[in-house]
Amino acid sequence: LYILAIETSCDETAVAIVENGTTIRANVVSSQIEVHQRFGGVVPELASRKHVESITWIIEEALEQSGLEPHDLSAIAVTQGPGLIGALLVGVVAAKALAYAWELPLIAVHHIAGHIYANQLVHKLQYPLISLVVSGGHTELVYIEAEGVFRIIGQTRDDAAGEAYDKIARALKLPYPGGPYIDRLAQEEGAALPLPRAWLEPDSYDFSFSGLKSAVLSALNQANMKGQPLVPQVVAKGFQDSVVEVLVEKALRAVKAYGAKQLLLAGGVAANQGLRQQLAARCAAANVPLLAPPLSLCTDNAAMIAAAAFLKLQRGQFSSLDFKAEPLLKLEEWSV
Ligand code: ATP
Ligand code: MG
Ligand code: FE
Repeated sequence: LYILAIETSCDETAVAIVENGTTIRANVVSSQIEVHQRFGGVVPELASRKHVESITWIIEEALEQSGLEPHDLSAIAVTQGPGLIGALLVGVVAAKALAYAWELPLIAVHHIAGHIYANQLVHKLQYPLISLVVSGGHTELVYIEAEGVFRIIGQTRDDAAGEAYDKIARALKLPYPGGPYIDRLAQEEGAALPLPRAWLEPDSYDFSFSGLKSAVLSALNQANMKGQPLVPQVVAKGFQDSVVEVLVEKALRAVKAYGAKQLLLAGGVAANQGLRQQLAARCAAANVPLLAPPLSLCTDNAAMIAAAAFLKLQRGQFSSLDFKAEPLLKLEEWSV
């Protein structure tokens, strides 16, 4: 069974073809980073326009890569949300057109379910499991009792982890998106700026990054006013230490409390080396199998959307041609 999937929720135009939910036959990702970089963040109107320009040739490119013909496909999948409405619409309209023209069933997919099930492209999942989702717009601990059954047990109360990375990077005058640059600086030898940890209530699985962000910004300001600016590496290391320590602690506590058989890392910030190393060390010590996608499948792509769509294809759960893009789609409601 082959699924052709489309992802246009933010600033990547992506199309993939995946066999049986696990084997990638084509995976084309066109990033718009250069378009948005000079604005220091994603400009929604530009993102939509760029998606419109790219979507057709990317679909053609994916078909060509796969060596398949439209009549070989079993379904068309597309990200329904969450994301930027104008960006989502481009993918949704393209997917509906293909499904109609090729007479194929349509599967609307939750973007975060995609990030989580990116793991299925490379690993065998065992339930129940806990997924730590860390991306540009989300920071969540998700309890997955059985395949495709999601329950959010904790989430950020303000900024997402990736958003915090990008804001700190901006303050350090690093290019957008700054997560990978902070990560690289934090890996270098050197001191770490002492910063607070946002533990919140002792039993809470929620996160908060805005206090940490303010602490960094005010430390930078004070140092500048004294005429002794902070070294970017020291700031990056201190910031990353604080973010990673809280993410790792809470994820491991959730694994234990919920009797999870595996911990799944997901989302763009799952590419973070500091986070991967700390989680790997702590999971090894606690005898918890840790799964993470390869770096290329952490940030937005359409192969992950096909992987999640396969859960619905297997169950015959299809979407009608009139479903709508949902900028605030809820993960729990997308459960199989
Ligand atoms: P969402 O998935 O929540 O809708 P998104 O799709 O915009 O948001 P992703 O593509 O999943 O986000 O991830 C992009 C984010 O990941 C950016 O904030 C980027 O800075 C961050 N990121 C990527 N690589 C790293 C890294 N190595 N360290 C830290 N952050 C990283
Ligand atoms: Mg992106
Ligand atoms: Fe994403």
